[in-house]
Amino acid sequence: MNRENKCKTFEKGYYKTHACKDTFTCKVCGRLCTPQNAGSDHRNHCPNCLSSLHVDIEPGDRASDCGGIMEPVAVWVRRGGEWAIIHRCKRCGTLSSNRVAADDNPMKLMSIAMKPLCEPPFPLDRIEEMTALMGGDGRLR
Ligand SMILES: [Zn+2]
Ligand SMILES: [Zn+2]
Repeated sequence: MNRENKCKTFEKGYYKTHACKDTFTCKVCGRLCTPQNAGSDHRNHCPNCLSSLHVDIEPGDRASDCGGIMEPVAVWVRRGGEWAIIHRCKRCGTLSSNRVAADDNPMKLMSIAMKPLCEPPFPLDRIEEMTALMGGDGRLR
């Protein structure tokens, strides 16, 4: 990383001082986030509430001026079975994908993964009808 550039951004905004390996206090839940247990170089979100801050354009570059809170909205599975979190910025709506860290709250990850299943955008009692429409056999015999 360009040192000179880093110093410049330090004066401009508080969030810019958070390099990947820095300790920071989560703006959402107040937890002190340390890089020690992350298991990777990218401690870019809180292991407790999984929220992040919109400070990057490319992962780790701290090039964004937004500084909004990045809300974890979804998880997906990368090739090889590794989980990643989709973050969406509450301020500008930018979406980004981040690897999960070793100490990320597993229950929070699960609850994000389960959310669409728990809140389907259609009535669950119509599933049988819909499976029939899809050509499958959703009927109980
Ligand atoms: Zn947090
Ligand atoms: Zn943003």
